[in-house]
Amino acid sequence: MGILRKILIKETTIQTLFLQARKIACHHCSKPFTYIVTKKGKTTDTSLRFLAPDDNDLKKHMNKRGLRLAKKKKLGEALCPHCKRYQNWMITKSRLSLLPRCWLIMFIFVITILSFTLDSRTFSSFLGLAILLGLTTVLAMGLAVLLGITSGVQSERDNRAKDSERLAKLITECEASQADPVEVWYFHHMGMELTETDASVSLGFVDLTVPDQVESI
Ligand SMILES: [Zn+2]
Repeated sequence: MGILRKILIKETTIQTLFLQARKIACHHCSKPFTYIVTKKGKTTDTSLRFLAPDDNDLKKHMNKRGLRLAKKKKLGEALCPHCKRYQNWMITKSRLSLLPRCWLIMFIFVITILSFTLDSRTFSSFLGLAILLGLTTVLAMGLAVLLGITSGVQSERDNRAKDSERLAKLITECEASQADPVEVWYFHHMGMELTETDASVSLGFVDLTVPDQVESI
């Protein structure tokens, strides 16, 4: 049965880039803005080997995965176009995502420095090991704070976010050409290209200013 399945069924794996525009209210200045979120995903579709894959099935499958992503709150990062600051949760997420790499860098750094100054037996003692791990963690947290996004007012322009006026302009432009506004925004306004993925799927707009509701604008 297993062999027959292998002969007849083909699995197609597609590296997908999900795109979504999210409207939130800035917790610094309370003004609403919309920003773009991207997430890479892998989708697998099974089809009969001797038939061309059904595009609609594939799309449905990808959208199902995308919908799971679309419902996740607190994704991505962008500066508020009004007050030019990041939301606090964006800063926390940025630092947490950097922490494992920072920890590894600091661990190597601390081990290298201490190996010149301390006897190797110090590391094998419980206290020595605890100090080593504690010191590494503190330094890694410091490095993550330095490398991550910061809470102050930023000077650069962030084209990942738009205020209502710019968003309305984009939607009007896209209506005329029947293009997807989120894709136009990402590929044309931001000048991004597909790298490491085979396809992009737009998940459209979501309004997160409406409490406990995932609603299209
Ligand atoms: Zn703001």
